[in-house]
Amino acid sequence: MRRAIVMGGSFAGLLAARVLADHAEEVVVVDPDGADGSGQGAPHRRQLHALLSMGHAQLDRRLPGITGELVAGGAQVGTGPQVRYYVDGALKACLPDNTLLGATRPFLEEHVRRRVLALPNVTVVPAQARDLLFDGTRVCGIRLLPVADTARPDALAELTGDLVVDAMGRSSRLGTWLVGHGWDSAPTDRMKVDLGYATAAFARGDELPGTVVVHASPGPASGYQQHLSEPGALVAVEGNRWSAVLVGYGDYRPGRDPEAFLRRMRRCVGPLREVADRCRLDGDIETFHFGESRKRDFTRLGRFPGGLIAVGDAVASVNPIYGQGLTLATLAASSLSVHLRSGASPHAPAWDYFRRLRVVVNAAWKISAAADLAQPHVTGPYPPGYRLLRWVGDKVVEASVTDRTVNEEFMAVVNMRKHPRVLTSPRLLLRTARVLTSRQSTAVGLRTGRRS
Ligand SMILES: Cc1cc2nc3c(=O)[nH]c(=O)nc-3n(C[C@H](O)[C@H](O)[C@H](O)COP(=O)(O)OP(=O)(O)OC[C@H]3O[C@@H](n4cnc5c(N)ncnc54)[C@H](O)[C@@H]3O)c2cc1C
Repeated sequence: MRRAIVMGGSFAGLLAARVLADHAEEVVVVDPDGADGSGQGAPHRRQLHALLSMGHAQLDRRLPGITGELVAGGAQVGTGPQVRYYVDGALKACLPDNTLLGATRPFLEEHVRRRVLALPNVTVVPAQARDLLFDGTRVCGIRLLPVADTARPDALAELTGDLVVDAMGRSSRLGTWLVGHGWDSAPTDRMKVDLGYATAAFARGDELPGTVVVHASPGPASGYQQHLSEPGALVAVEGNRWSAVLVGYGDYRPGRDPEAFLRRMRRCVGPLREVADRCRLDGDIETFHFGESRKRDFTRLGRFPGGLIAVGDAVASVNPIYGQGLTLATLAASSLSVHLRSGASPHAPAWDYFRRLRVVVNAAWKISAAADLAQPHVTGPYPPGYRLLRWVGDKVVEASVTDRTVNEEFMAVVNMRKHPRVLTSPRLLLRTARVLTSRQSTAVGLRTGRRS
């Protein structure tokens, strides 16, 4: 390709640009934020972001050595017992090989941006993409408004290219533009989740030695009731800080008031209580409301123009509690890489790319939707066989609290290293049944022993 154009220069756009740099003479990233990527218009970037282990592995693969650079800058890496997962207040079985990165999203993205923009054939244009350009049935470029001309909306410029990538996030207007040119927009699945988020930073001292990540969620024992088992997370990040997040559905959403935030942290698991009691709250509390999960399925379209693909939240934006968004962006970059290396023409419709991406998007959706549907206020749509799947899922979660093997498999799915279908494999179900039966026998034994 002579030129590839990426509309949107945040996490997904940067990783797509990294892949395209191997296939195009020139890659142009178009974003109103330009090269500084301040993300003024994207307040979600100030919320705590976890990078799942699959996303971390993919990031290291695309940008070798980036973990070392992040750590040199102050990011933390938690392994084994330094990463603590709680369900219904109970600490889960430790995963010795589990590793998670502790860094804020702006810090992580700044490093990714620096590496990608250092590539000799990648440049950034500070502009807003406004429309697509067509040559017959293929997209051959975009119409854009340079930031310098924002006061003159008619000062649109044109940029031509062989491949155009939509990385404009969940509010992408790609569908509207396609319809405007006589094409269909991708069918969109939605699930209302009505989730409130609040993130706060704390000065980090030696109050929790050996802890990098703490994640607490409600589970089957509390009937997934947030007010019975306070959900929250705590991550050691660069700059000797803790980043703490509280979440809540519907009216139970956390707010900006520091006293209320601290009170709620004190109802969480031990490490969050400890930080609330012993550390200084640093700066304002940032809140965010996430209304619905969405995924656009391009494979369900009957026709689609060549020269066009979409990545990141522009394809799927799922309940952020499960931390899948950044990892989905890395997997879109991998799908794009496989697609282009297969020798596919960038000018043809990228069906093969969209089919590949659908596998991981649907897997992510399956995990987040299954957990969301357990919330009383989430009313569907329910997948076929939901009740049975939910019952089985609850049993696996229960067993994963004490059994390392079940927990390893469960967390491999949560971390997107394995497909959710492994959770219903006969081997895992048998193990789960054994764990729960022996737990029951022990409990009965203890009760009988006590009576005698
Ligand atoms: C509260 C919250 C918490 C989250 N926590 C996590 C987490 O813990 N882990 C995780 O993996 N994910 C998390 N996510 C999801 C994650 O933030 C997204 O998946 C991720 O931001 C997707 O990146 P993106 O590049 O696709 O989109 P975005 O980050 O939204 O970036 C879109 C970019 O497009 C640009 N843009 C928009 N319109 C135009 C235009 N017309 N022309 C040019 N450029 C344009 C914007 O300026 C922006 O730079 C969270 C999301 C939320 C809301």
